[in-house]
Amino acid sequence: MIKINSNYSKLKASYLFSTIAKKVSEYQKNNPDKKIIKMGIGDVTLPLPPACVAAFSSAVEEMGKADTFRGYGPEQGYEFLRKAIADNDFKARGMDIEPDEIFVSDGAKSDSANIQELFAEDVRVAIQDPVYPVYLDTNVMAGRSGEPADGRYDNITYLPCVPQNNFLPDIPAETVDLIYLCYPNNPTGAVADKTYLKKWVDYARENKSIIIFDAAYEAFITDENIPHSIYEIEGAKEVAIEIRSFSKTAGFTGTRCAYTVVPKECIIKDENKTEYSLNAMWFRRQSTKFNGVSYPVQRAAEAVYSEEGKKQVKENIAYYLENARILREALEGLGYECTGGKNSPYIWINTGKDSWEFFDMLLDKAQIVCTPGSGFGKAGEGFVRFSAFNSRENVIEAADRLKRLLG
Ligand SMILES: *Cc1c(COP(=O)(O)O)cnc(C)c1O
Repeated sequence: MIKINSNYSKLKASYLFSTIAKKVSEYQKNNPDKKIIKMGIGDVTLPLPPACVAAFSSAVEEMGKADTFRGYGPEQGYEFLRKAIADNDFKARGMDIEPDEIFVSDGAKSDSANIQELFAEDVRVAIQDPVYPVYLDTNVMAGRSGEPADGRYDNITYLPCVPQNNFLPDIPAETVDLIYLCYPNNPTGAVADKTYLKKWVDYARENKSIIIFDAAYEAFITDENIPHSIYEIEGAKEVAIEIRSFSKTAGFTGTRCAYTVVPKECIIKDENKTEYSLNAMWFRRQSTKFNGVSYPVQRAAEAVYSEEGKKQVKENIAYYLENARILREALEGLGYECTGGKNSPYIWINTGKDSWEFFDMLLDKAQIVCTPGSGFGKAGEGFVRFSAFNSRENVIEAADRLKRLLG
């Protein structure tokens, strides 16, 4: 008799975005003349940079001609893209990452979901709270979480990101094996400096742990002293896997392209001192379960690193960061404690109330939609997330409404 993977029964249903959608559509139905501004969106709003569109479309042309047509590509990604990534994102910043340590994929979501497959079922997992839910849910599916109790799973170590620690959680008392860190952080907008990341890298080297570093928002870093990659920390290549994405960087959320760095120095030893290369294992995993990203998409991603592409990406990021600045200044002017909105498209606001109560108040009184922080984890209670992914016009209007309502 067939049986299901019973770990799926341990998953907590996430009603966050469906509840928001329901509340918004109900409000609109009862107030058809009101214009709602959605500041909760975690998706980009600007179109693809023209350099990417040109590369994308000329690659499509190639696919339509017999002499330039390409079928299956390398599972790890085309060399042209992996080399562009290694040169621009790492070597240009003094990090020695080689193209064969880079694995191109269809998304940071899939990579951050799948990477846990490389580790044993009984490793202890540490996850930030509040958090991008993929890391937790995929470990629940894989049977690492234990039972849910009181909104938390028994076998997960939660790392609370709260104002008391500047959203940079302390190293936990118990030993943890697989550590998920995301900086610039979604949802809090917090950034990590080198001193902070070094603590984790040193910890991981001492305890033989592995860090999964999600740098999906790296492109939003503008401060000189904020590291763009965990490999800026000495020794990180032995203990860290880094995940990046073209989604937030260059508007690829609907186009799909990302990459994961698995350094060759990431070697795990078992009890018998047999050594296992995570790079070799991830190659095996990807070539077994994944057939690569489409050729035109990889050409479009390569164009992110062209002179024009770099300039256009920078302009788009600057546009979002200016949106974030306008929102953050409006909120701070009203006396709210804010994180992010600098080096990040997200602003995390301490509302001093219940997250949903604040959400309802903003929708009802100002027709502004935010994301309740409690939806990202227990430690997010009392906070809401604003996103800078919007038009300038909407952002200015939202800032005005906030000032009128709360000023
Ligand atoms: C948006 C986001 C991703 C997803 O990126 P894709 O490449 O579009 O799958 C990954 N991690 C975090 C923290 C994100 O916010």
